Amino acid sequence: MSTWLSFLGAARTVTGSRFLLQNDTERVLVDCGLFQGGRKMKALNWEPFPAEPASLDAILLTHAHIDHTGYLPRLVSEGFDGPIYATQATCALLELLLPDAAYLQEQDAAYANKTGYSRHKPALPLFTSIDARDTLELLHPVDDDESINIGTLSASWMRSGHILGAGILQLDVNGQSESRRIVFSGDLGRYDSEIMKPPEQVGRADILLVESTYGGRLHTDDSIRSVLIDFLNDVADEKSVLLIPAFAIGRTQQILFWIRKLQDEGSVPDLPVFIDSPMAVEASHIYCQFGDDHNLDVNLLMDERQCPLRCKETHFIKEVEESKELNTRPGPAIIISASGMCTGGRILHHLKWRLPDRRNRVLFIGYQAEGTRGRHLLNGKRSIRIHGKSVPVHAGIAQLDALSAHADMNELITWITGFQHQPSDIFIVHGELESSRALQEELGRRLGWGAKLPNQFETIQL
Ligand SMILES: [Zn+2]
Repeated sequence: MSTWLSFLGAARTVTGSRFLLQNDTERVLVDCGLFQGGRKMKALNWEPFPAEPASLDAILLTHAHIDHTGYLPRLVSEGFDGPIYATQATCALLELLLPDAAYLQEQDAAYANKTGYSRHKPALPLFTSIDARDTLELLHPVDDDESINIGTLSASWMRSGHILGAGILQLDVNGQSESRRIVFSGDLGRYDSEIMKPPEQVGRADILLVESTYGGRLHTDDSIRSVLIDFLNDVADEKSVLLIPAFAIGRTQQILFWIRKLQDEGSVPDLPVFIDSPMAVEASHIYCQFGDDHNLDVNLLMDERQCPLRCKETHFIKEVEESKELNTRPGPAIIISASGMCTGGRILHHLKWRLPDRRNRVLFIGYQAEGTRGRHLLNGKRSIRIHGKSVPVHAGIAQLDALSAHADMNELITWITGFQHQPSDIFIVHGELESSRALQEELGRRLGWGAKLPNQFETIQL
């Protein structure tokens, strides 16, 4: 029986994770992500999907991040109506995330039509709130020790440690005489995170797809403390504003955890922290619900005063009006808002207000993909475009890689070294070309293992 694998995204780039696996009888999609980045990258979301959506038997998800799930409502609007399998926590996160992503799409289109900044007339959302709701109906939560069958395929998940619910997907292709195991790493977390548990070791893979976001970089841990102490003290002294672009669930808790830790030690002042996201209020609840994925004490999470994921003075902003009031609020203050790569969401309004003042700071704590506003700011651009207008950048810009939810080069190699045998094929995905190449070289150098870098839209017979 022949099996084919098509790389429909996240090949030589970090976003748009979509892998299509087909054999004589089944056709499944692993992850269904949105492309994020510059105009060219975003245009890929509007291309027709390379396979008839209704012909897919099922979709399997590694984790809830939008670059792995944000294309689902579009696929559903175009006819997909099969089951979507994912871990319990991933499904719970998608209940929040997909309606929010649809709302952002609708808001952006409405704003573009009102102000006329889009080149498309009229500007349309990629998908609507109705599409997002229809997608949620198709979710099938899978238990940790459960394995599900789709014809000749069976699938199960192990913990990847990247975000709540994130899994490494093991997909067995059961032929008449033999079975082959394809392992999708999804996004791999870190081995020594204070919040998340480390990635689990997978024993066997015949074919391996491994991410390479930080395939060529090493994180430094000792800088978190010193960078935050410097930043927070400067913000207090200058009465300025520190903006932290971060998605409401995951990165936001990571940074809150660190600020709180430093506050408890007395190393930083108790500045007011505003979490500007309609979703953030739900975060503690979700961490309580899925206690197995992380190292935090669920009893402490329930206690507002002692909760390790809250700072001494934390304000949750839900309504748009309250968010607007923040624009004119004098410092010192810390504002945390989405999206993490500044591709959309409320962070854009905060950047518009705060970037022109040289006393303010922007701190990136997650990966910034090529072509995103986040990457432009890190590259030192002196002005960026927001909603069709040029905004001058005078605020200080910095990055804290060590807070990343992704394994670095050494951690990726550690995880890959854990396989009992060399997989017959290794495909390096989910990384910009330079990072993927660096991991390829390191694998060759340290283990003598060869690996391939597939092209976008390439199909390979397994
Ligand atoms: Zn991710």
